Amino acid sequence: MRSKLVAGNWKMHGRRDMAADLLSALAPHLPRGVDVAVCVPFPYLDQAGAALVGSALHLGAQDVSECDDGAFTGEVSAGMLRDMGCRYVIVGHSERRARHGESSQCVADKAATALRNGLTPIVCVGETKDERLAGQTESVVSEQLAPVLALGADRVERLVIAYEPIWAIGTGLSATVDEAIAVHSAIRGALGRVSRAAADRVQILYGGSVKPETAPALFAADDIDGGLVGGAALDPEAFLAICKAA
Ligand code: PGA
Repeated sequence: MRSKLVAGNWKMHGRRDMAADLLSALAPHLPRGVDVAVCVPFPYLDQAGAALVGSALHLGAQDVSECDDGAFTGEVSAGMLRDMGCRYVIVGHSERRARHGESSQCVADKAATALRNGLTPIVCVGETKDERLAGQTESVVSEQLAPVLALGADRVERLVIAYEPIWAIGTGLSATVDEAIAVHSAIRGALGRVSRAAADRVQILYGGSVKPETAPALFAADDIDGGLVGGAALDPEAFLAICKAA
């Protein structure tokens, strides 16, 4: 039986004070029986790691270098994220694929580096509005996943995958439960072709305008194992309501 996971993606928001306030509003009130993480901007990871010692709220980052430590100006290594107390790292968010030209192979390399350093990568996939309208959703997602699934069963079994339709991110337009289920079950099928354990164990999160009102119906679906939450993760009341729905 897979547990549910809700991960907040703070993106490039906040300052030191907001991070402190948000963490202290969340950490003491986490519901039981659901894994909860916050993916914090790099400069505030150290502060967040210190604030969350002994807490059930897990720490994550929003990106990682595919390279190990070395002469890579501006990059942050998986070893550094571990050192800050991270357990999770988002890789291949659509904002990075689009703005930084990250290919699916680069995303798979980042996932592999994260795993080698003891982090759990949250691998994001999802189609644009035009791709959905053209009926290409499943083929796009399957191409994005191909290099990740090629990492092999022992690594795939330790991933988290987030299905985030790009047209639903930050737009207030969530996929319907049926639209989400169709993609999640296609991803579960692809995991099953890697190994039975991958299909059984990998948590597949839904992301894209998850709100307290939409979360219960999404999370009630068998193949939806929680959410990757952007905007609503900056509002402690909304984020805790989403966690309770999981
Ligand atoms: P959103 O962002 O919840 O604001 O749509 C989700 C994400 O980009 O991870």
